[in-house]
Amino acid sequence: MAELLAQSLIRDVPDFPLPGILFKDVTPVLSDAKALQEVVDLLAADAREKGAQAIVGIESRGFIFGVPVALALGVPFVMARKLGKLPYDRISEEYALEYGTNTVEMHSDALTTGQKAYIVDDLLATGGTAAAAVRLVERLGAEVVGFGCLIELSFLQGRENLLGYPITALIEI
Ligand code: AMP
Repeated sequence: MAELLAQSLIRDVPDFPLPGILFKDVTPVLSDAKALQEVVDLLAADAREKGAQAIVGIESRGFIFGVPVALALGVPFVMARKLGKLPYDRISEEYALEYGTNTVEMHSDALTTGQKAYIVDDLLATGGTAAAAVRLVERLGAEVVGFGCLIELSFLQGRENLLGYPITALIEI
């Protein structure tokens, strides 16, 4: 496949948010409508191929990429949010980040039993966040049919945390 338009737009920001972290800034991709459209189209094609009946976006950049994917498929969008942001009855899962720890939550009525869910985020690093989102989906009785992201930091071996789940990363670093 030809190189993605987004590839050359991702900006490396050293030592953010902590020393030693090379942050992958996707804001230039969002500024380029053609590059963003290409990313959304590819993730939507993958989610459609996996039979997704709902798209789960991980806060917050997973929302940006996940909502247009859900609209493209004509399926519900579900938010996996950081601790304390969701107003209604919810379930929680703790996870370890590349930097620090965090908790992700989902409304307890966000998915139905047996529903096929496709999870979207901007980047897969250690896989802790994605694995927590998988646990939330499965606790609601739904099925994870795939995880899609723009960037995978493959040297962090995040896939090890998601064994058995189909992972699509448009750009592997
Ligand atoms: P992880 O749980 O380690 O896979 O981390 C993935 C989450 O943290 C995603 O939501 C990313 O947006 C964010 N993240 C982790 N590492 C980076 C990085 N180097 N650059 C940008 N975002 C990152």
